[in-house]
Amino acid sequence: MTIGILGGGQLGYMLALAGYPLGLHFRFLDPSPEAPVGRIATRITAEFSDRGALKKFAQGLALVTYEFENVPVEAAEYLAERVPVLPPPAALEAAQDRLKEKQLFQKLGIATTEFAAVADRNALDSAVQQIGLPAILKTCRMGYDGKGQWILRNAEDVSRAKNELPHEHSASHTKRAKGEGPEQTAAFILERFVPFTRELSILAVRGRTGETAVYPLIENHHRGGILRLSLAPAPGLEPAIQRMAEDAARRVSESLQYVGVLAIEFFEHQGRLLANEMAPRVHNSGHWTIEGAITSQFENHLRAVTGQPLGATNGIGCSAMLNLIGEVPDSSEVLTVRDAHLHLYGKTPRAGRKLGHVTLRAASPEQLASRLGELPSFFHRPDYCLDAALSRAASLRA
Ligand code: AMP
Repeated sequence: MTIGILGGGQLGYMLALAGYPLGLHFRFLDPSPEAPVGRIATRITAEFSDRGALKKFAQGLALVTYEFENVPVEAAEYLAERVPVLPPPAALEAAQDRLKEKQLFQKLGIATTEFAAVADRNALDSAVQQIGLPAILKTCRMGYDGKGQWILRNAEDVSRAKNELPHEHSASHTKRAKGEGPEQTAAFILERFVPFTRELSILAVRGRTGETAVYPLIENHHRGGILRLSLAPAPGLEPAIQRMAEDAARRVSESLQYVGVLAIEFFEHQGRLLANEMAPRVHNSGHWTIEGAITSQFENHLRAVTGQPLGATNGIGCSAMLNLIGEVPDSSEVLTVRDAHLHLYGKTPRAGRKLGHVTLRAASPEQLASRLGELPSFFHRPDYCLDAALSRAASLRA
């Protein structure tokens, strides 16, 4: 069985690695000739909008899935006329626009950050009045890893941000949804700044028959909007918080008739969860599941889309995952640490680029803290969040 994957980055790479033992074959489509999957699978290098390439790509595939959420919905819909596309293209559509995503959370009764749509610069003042300061202005589309965001703390920041906004709301932003009234879309969204206790994410997997499994909540640390460290299970977790996250994941996946792995990111604030965003794909905060869970997120995604039974999502002990951004350490220095697992994606180093990750798995929080302490000096810089990892692991011991 050959599975087509839209996007050929590290997530696709790890999907293929998880799929080979299941006897699956893969074909990727990605616009970049540098896409890492070229090392291990057939890769078609073409734009997602290239209909000829999509047609060729789809030939003989059992199904298509994606590892990149900014694949144009039209490309997914075009493919869906030829071959099953899972998760369904509607999930892509919901996740590509921050406003639609928050409206979906709201519709499903999932608590989210307070937000307001900002169509153009004239709309910013009233949005600020409604939401208050501090707030974060974000582009609704194509923003990732903290790109396309401005923190507004005072009136000066607001006027500066106005220069980034278009003069007038373009008509193309008001689209009519099929059979419904006008759909509210905007170029920007203003969100109340949440002084959260911590950031958490949940990964759920839903099979073709509606069977759902959920991984333990993960604690995430970002620097400059990029994920640097994940701890799983999230230290000191109240069972009620885990239940809230699972409930949110179930509501979203059922409402979208979702199939595959779905990630939702939350802020933990004043004892509750506020949903920030979702990703209709395997997720960076789930890389620890390769060694740290009974079934990895990658294998479970493939089990789900191919209609196989889902695997257990329990963690094995506790794990820390550190992203390698912009540069990689000396491999032998990492591998000398017991229970350290190094993953290099084969990408050319560039500032801000995710080049690999390291997962440390331990039987106990004590052991995790001691393994983290053994990591080479490369990781002892503030942007690796090792101090946060150590203090969280210590709090687990307490
Ligand atoms: P996002 O692209 O929405 O995931 O935002 C990137 C990072 O910015 C998040 O992981 C948070 O650390 C921070 N952030 C985003 N939105 C908010 C918010 N409303 N309040 C506080 N911090 C935020």
